Amino acid sequence: MILERIYRLLSSLKGGTMIPTEVVLSPESYADIATELSKNTPQPRPAQHLALNVTIREDNTDVLIVKELTPNPCPVCHGRLTFLRETIARFENDALHLIRCPMGHRYPGQLRIFQIDIRGENREREKPITTCPACGSKSIQYLGPAEMFCLDCDWDSGLEPRFQPNAS
Ligand SMILES: [Zn+2]
Ligand SMILES: [Zn+2]
Repeated sequence: MILERIYRLLSSLKGGTMIPTEVVLSPESYADIATELSKNTPQPRPAQHLALNVTIREDNTDVLIVKELTPNPCPVCHGRLTFLRETIARFENDALHLIRCPMGHRYPGQLRIFQIDIRGENREREKPITTCPACGSKSIQYLGPAEMFCLDCDWDSGLEPRFQPNAS
């Protein structure tokens, strides 16, 4: 069930450096979610329920769009960025493309945007990697069967940003 997969994906992102911002659904999946939610709510509003923007696209795909600022932690004080949603919004409005850390350091950074397939098969399968190949940390965060990243360094499994925000 699609709603359950979204919940699972959202909870796998908690505590990481990526934050979900939008769900892009096919009309069928959107209808599925509305039906599911209507069991408990007379007039379901999936966007409100998920606390994410929901876009419907005439396309046979369902993706979760997540954003990540790098580098994180801050290269000056090595503190992790907090209030990621606000920090990203501030970065997006910053003409100089500077990230501001909780201590007030400003440093040049990049916003990466990923699309994660919500319908990825066999998410429950055994995890092939438990140790980060770059830093040896055991803090590997899974986003899908073969999509993962390290919580302690910049390593990821080749998660390619699928599109970049308009450079303006
Ligand atoms: Zn700092
Ligand atoms: Zn690592």
